[in-house]
Amino acid sequence: MKYNEYHIIAEQLSSKKNIVLSAHANPDGDTIGSCLALYHFFTQFGHQVQVIIPNEAPCFLNWLPAYKEALVFDNDKNSVKEAIDASDVVFAVDYNAFHRVGAVLDKLLEEAKGLKFLIDHHPNPSKGFDALISDTSASSTAELVYSFIQDLNQSDKINKDLGSCLYVGLLTDTGSFSYSIKTDIPFLMAAFLFKVGVDFQMINQRVYSTFTENRLRLTGYAISEKLHVIPELRFAYIALTKQELERFNHQNGDTEGLVNYALSIENSVIAVLLTEKDNKIRLSFRSKGTFAVNQIAAEYFEGGGHINAAGGNSYLSMEETIQKLLAIIPKYKQELNAIDL
Ligand code: MN
Repeated sequence: MKYNEYHIIAEQLSSKKNIVLSAHANPDGDTIGSCLALYHFFTQFGHQVQVIIPNEAPCFLNWLPAYKEALVFDNDKNSVKEAIDASDVVFAVDYNAFHRVGAVLDKLLEEAKGLKFLIDHHPNPSKGFDALISDTSASSTAELVYSFIQDLNQSDKINKDLGSCLYVGLLTDTGSFSYSIKTDIPFLMAAFLFKVGVDFQMINQRVYSTFTENRLRLTGYAISEKLHVIPELRFAYIALTKQELERFNHQNGDTEGLVNYALSIENSVIAVLLTEKDNKIRLSFRSKGTFAVNQIAAEYFEGGGHINAAGGNSYLSMEETIQKLLAIIPKYKQELNAIDL
């Protein structure tokens, strides 16, 4: 399903408004990049704009232009509440339902008295939004923000700062232009961003070459000691307990991308990363080809996402969660073995 109700949004924003841009929990490059791009866009029209992030973004994102202007709910709940109370409009950016921002903040956003807009590329946007820009064929929400600005005939507002935010969303959600690209828009967008002076080399370095020593050692440990490969199911997984994460002084975002190493094995179709955090197990699913991991995440792990990239949670112990997973994946044996790569 595809929605592009930009005209409703444009009409509502034709006079100056107090706008809250809301990112999802455990923010990634797309939600932060898209929020900040919209921040740089809307401020050029004299709107009051506040970006709200549930918890701090990893270091490889916190250099983005105007990141420091954002409010982090974990650090300052009162200011976030005040900003939502004062808002005329709330945007859900890169997520499909308010529960994706985490407990307490979701209620504040749901109960916000103003209009609610959504701009996102995940399937099944929840009901109750006043306007949607929602398209699962978009590579990233950043792409939808770019198209939104084009639909409004305001491409000249895309300066280097705004463009850098868009590029980070595009780059990270496509795995550097390697997946979830179904149209030529991401490439045309990159060409446009290049023309407005976005520094691709600098951004690549800041996003991909800023591992701490601990993060690199955790990556090495996970791959050499914790990777389990089950060739007959074309399945690989990595499970990291709280103690193991603590041993490497784990910071938010340190396991980002780790699941892709498991999926990079020749012939593998599905990979899962399990991490133990805050008394639950977080599962990160990846797949190749047409194998839909969002269905497994939704059916068994209270999660969801895209066909090839999804997430879920388990409230069992790590060992029990692994056993559960090892009971589920064989059910898909035939389907897994039928995937052509
Ligand atoms: Mn995204």
